[in-house]
Amino acid sequence: MEISQKKLIIFDLDGTLTKSKTPIREEMCELLYRLLREKNVVVISGGKREMVKRDLENPIVQYVHQKKYDFAVLKNLHIMPTYGTSYFVWGGNINSKPEWLCKYSNYLTSDQKERTFKILEEIPKKMGYWEPENKIFGERVEDRESQITYSPLGQDAAREEKAKYDVEDMLRDKVVQAVQEKLPDLEVRKGGLTSIDVTEKGVDKTFGVKKMMQMYKYKIEDMLFVADKIYPGGNDYPIKEFGVESIEVQSPEETEKIIEGILNDN
Ligand SMILES: [Mg+2]
Repeated sequence: MEISQKKLIIFDLDGTLTKSKTPIREEMCELLYRLLREKNVVVISGGKREMVKRDLENPIVQYVHQKKYDFAVLKNLHIMPTYGTSYFVWGGNINSKPEWLCKYSNYLTSDQKERTFKILEEIPKKMGYWEPENKIFGERVEDRESQITYSPLGQDAAREEKAKYDVEDMLRDKVVQAVQEKLPDLEVRKGGLTSIDVTEKGVDKTFGVKKMMQMYKYKIEDMLFVADKIYPGGNDYPIKEFGVESIEVQSPEETEKIIEGILNDN
């Protein structure tokens, strides 16, 4: 199918619409706004809501406001943090405050969270995938509501530090396996450069895609996916494997070119 006939454009956030962990730039806001006038857009991120809010929701609302554009266009923007286990849509300016409405959220139960927290302290410590308090930055185990994430260097450690840690991934694989044995009803996976994610079973980026298909009756061929980690082991790969036409990008600048291409085709 021609790209111009696609009905839903799916984007990853981090590394695709934004540089890693930074807010979306104005140029990208402009292109997204123009795209939203033509198409439905869903952003499926592995990150939690607060991050998506900071890097996407707030800046785009700000941009639309500043340009005096039409806020109704934001109704075509679907926002899915944590792989689509929660889903937000534009609700308009309520009491003159921008509001995104939560349409659903599949959060872990407090029992699941408690057991996960306990195991994520116990196992990495025992296996040496653990750094002393004075060497870590930010939280070690983070509650992302539908996902619990363990980072041996802490959530806020610098990217370069993370890249240098356990380069061969030898230890992390073993820790993942050991944690999985202790949490058989949940799914344990590698996330990011050093982290370990625990979610309910079957949660990867296809979770959000399947939800969009159920809710709005999209077919596989109606959708186009643009992301930076579409290779085996990358967190965007499952969507390609699922059969959605996919374009891999190396940077937000490349994504901008793709959006321009879609706009010119229409
Ligand atoms: Mg990414």
